[in-house]
Amino acid sequence: MELSPADHVAIVPTPGLGHLIPLLELAKRLVVHHSFTVTFFIPNDGSNLAPQERVLRALPQTISYTFLPPVNFDDLPADAAAETKIALTLTRSLSALRDSVKALAESTRLVALVVDLFGPEAFDVANEFNMLPYLFFPTTAMGLWLVFELPKLDEATSCEYRDLPEPVQLPGCVPLHGRDFADPVQDRSNEAYKALIRISNRYKTAAGIMVNSFADLEPGAFKAFKEEGPGLGLPPVYPVGPVIKTGSADEVGGNDCLSWLDRQPNGSVLFVSFGSGGTLSSEQMKELALGLEMSGVRFLWVTRTPNETAKNATYFGAQDSNDPSSFLPQGFLERTKEVGLVVTSWAPQVQILSHESTGGFLTHCGWNSTLESVVHGVPLIAWPLYAEQRTNAVLLAEDLKVAWRVKMNDRGIVESRNIAKYAKDLIEGDEGKLLKRKMIELKEAAKEALSIDGSSTKSLEEVAKIWKSHRK
Ligand code: UDP
Repeated sequence: MELSPADHVAIVPTPGLGHLIPLLELAKRLVVHHSFTVTFFIPNDGSNLAPQERVLRALPQTISYTFLPPVNFDDLPADAAAETKIALTLTRSLSALRDSVKALAESTRLVALVVDLFGPEAFDVANEFNMLPYLFFPTTAMGLWLVFELPKLDEATSCEYRDLPEPVQLPGCVPLHGRDFADPVQDRSNEAYKALIRISNRYKTAAGIMVNSFADLEPGAFKAFKEEGPGLGLPPVYPVGPVIKTGSADEVGGNDCLSWLDRQPNGSVLFVSFGSGGTLSSEQMKELALGLEMSGVRFLWVTRTPNETAKNATYFGAQDSNDPSSFLPQGFLERTKEVGLVVTSWAPQVQILSHESTGGFLTHCGWNSTLESVVHGVPLIAWPLYAEQRTNAVLLAEDLKVAWRVKMNDRGIVESRNIAKYAKDLIEGDEGKLLKRKMIELKEAAKEALSIDGSSTKSLEEVAKIWKSHRK
């Protein structure tokens, strides 16, 4: 008997390693648990592809990838928002995507096209080739509610959202102040905001939306999608997370970090990192260094060269090999060498978080970092910088109570004495133990969601079933 070819899924990630990684993990689940074949079509601007290539090369053969021809940004002003560039990378790749999908459709049975955050314009391509248009929303159900409520808020609000006196109540979510909305929503005259309003309307045309969260992490928000979604004309929403990177020791600098951690006592180390793109100003960098030193707590810190204007200066360029002694306070490295390890630009985060010496994480609250902390039960100090990180910090600190959010002074600086206190209390204090206990509960809930009969496993099964019956 001739075997029928596997159903094929095309995935189009939004630029950025933080977007690519969870989609790769989702693809692995689709291949291993549901027998799909997967092809990634990767829009890009031609810069800094090496980190992406590194993770792509490690994929199993049933997952292929193609970089679409690089788009050009020469016409953009130098200060164009990262979100504008990200959205344009996708828009400008559409015709190349169409050609690639057309070629693939000639030899395989393409059943679904999955895009993430900024990708719904590619739904046109899905419809053209009779593929089901799906969205993978890479952050929270709360963030997804904000996207859907945005056109309504836009009509009802005349000021910037950060000036609203009262927090906004998104269905099933903890109240959220306008100042904690995602970056592109902070300036309503910006192109990125307008793009988001358009995208919000396109989200409604998805056949379904998978969310990288799980039912027990955001019970209220998911319940609201079930109960209120259909009446609002929203597509079905499927919690399928946590979908996180599994990690490998061959990453740059990986072995140094891990052997250093092996020599530290259990639960004694504060891991400090601001994700793949986060940067601090020189002044803030110095305060952080002094705060860590003052705390006396052991730390493993992934540093980036400071940047005075942007908080996501390395988003379009993840590698940064500058010597940290050029921007850290004089003598800092020498004075802290018994208790601290400073790593430049990149560390094997998942392995660090799963290491028993790690007792806490000072994080920018990127959603991947957040989920990785949940899965490994590591309590947090929440220091959001850009994108939707402030919204995540609200969920973590005010709703789930697994994090303390840092306080900034009126110049936007987190002061060293506060940093010292957060670090010491988290690693050594009783209140830190409370956070840890809550985080362990979430860790168990995450494990349950991904078990054979778990809520996220079932959700993904449901999606796979719909895809398999398409075109049969
Ligand atoms: N990451 C890592 N090492 C680093 C910095 C980041 O492995 O030194 C990984 C991290 O584990 C996570 C991703 O990169 O999977 C960052 O994603 P996140 O959503 O947390 O933040 P973003 O970089 O998108 O702001």
